[in-house]
Amino acid sequence: MTSSFPCPVRENVPLAPYTTFGMGGATPLLVEPRNVDELVGAVRRLREDGVRFRLLGGGANVLIDDRGVEDAVVLTNGISFVRREGEGIEVLRLGAGVSIPWFVQHVRGMKLTGAECLVGIPGTMGGATVMNAGGRHGWLSSIATRVRALTADGEDEEIEVDEETFGYRTSVFGDDRIVLETVVRLAKGNKKTSDETIRTYLKEKSAAQPLTEKSAGCVFKNAANDDVERSAGKLLDRAGVKGWSEGGVAVSEKHANFIVNRGGATMADVVKLVQRMRDAVEEVCGERLGTEVKQWVRGE
Ligand SMILES: Cc1cc2nc3c(=O)[nH]c(=O)nc-3n(C[C@H](O)[C@H](O)[C@H](O)COP(=O)(O)OP(=O)(O)OC[C@H]3O[C@@H](n4cnc5c(N)ncnc54)[C@H](O)[C@@H]3O)c2cc1C
Repeated sequence: MTSSFPCPVRENVPLAPYTTFGMGGATPLLVEPRNVDELVGAVRRLREDGVRFRLLGGGANVLIDDRGVEDAVVLTNGISFVRREGEGIEVLRLGAGVSIPWFVQHVRGMKLTGAECLVGIPGTMGGATVMNAGGRHGWLSSIATRVRALTADGEDEEIEVDEETFGYRTSVFGDDRIVLETVVRLAKGNKKTSDETIRTYLKEKSAAQPLTEKSAGCVFKNAANDDVERSAGKLLDRAGVKGWSEGGVAVSEKHANFIVNRGGATMADVVKLVQRMRDAVEEVCGERLGTEVKQWVRGE
């Protein structure tokens, strides 16, 4: 079966090393396309064979079942090209597997501005497009202009971004609409100014978040995105969850919305802790938080 794939594939591959949480069992089939044609070909092949699959970028926003998954996993990080679009240098077409941190540094070197808001966010541009990655200084949606995607019907389409495309930590893309390429429009900038902005944002972020520990970023979405006082982090703080632990995981002392893997953690530990945190917020603040991290449960 593996020989007729248009790209390298491996069987029974543990997924933990492909996630920032450092957790998760194996996939029976890891598919590793090196360019968009291989990705499209591999996905068509999986669909023809009726094999269920999931997409994995940088694994910075996923929590994977310790028992592994029954589905194949298509890893996009090999699709890492950046192409100039048109005459100017401000518009760039990025492969889904381009690393977000690499992109931020690369465009800074090109004296382009606009990507600084993504500094300190791990993962790939495909994942950033699906999740509309960003924060208080801006979002992927503020620079994305077009997205090339493969639909569930196998159509290769390119859509113009409009107000329906992105929401808070969400977009019209995902496993049924695979991001192949994202086109971004930046502006001519100044390397020194971008350097200063990046330094400031990174300093802010590393002061507030446990960036050197294993995590999947914020666990919960903000209940009211425009109200800082009601952000998930603030509500969790009020509920007093910092330092709580369960098995191998604990709520970070630095940021109440981060669960960190202290070693030997399992998905069951995370699920239990998430439940306790959610209940505590509901009891103390009367809000029910929804999760941001994508959970890959075996059999679901
Ligand atoms: C320390 C830390 C800090 C973080 N800070 C932030 C932050 O400030 N702001 C923020 O928004 N996020 C933050 N995150 C979360 C994470 O970095 C982002 O959500 C990022 O965009 C995830 O990209 P990824 O490539 O790792 O996606 P993955 O985790 O690999 O995938 C996420 C979801 O997208 C799907 N997917 C991935 N690629 C594709 C594709 N090409 N087509 C279709 N579906 C796809 C996956 O199936 C999955 O459902 C942080 C995470 C960590 C660990």
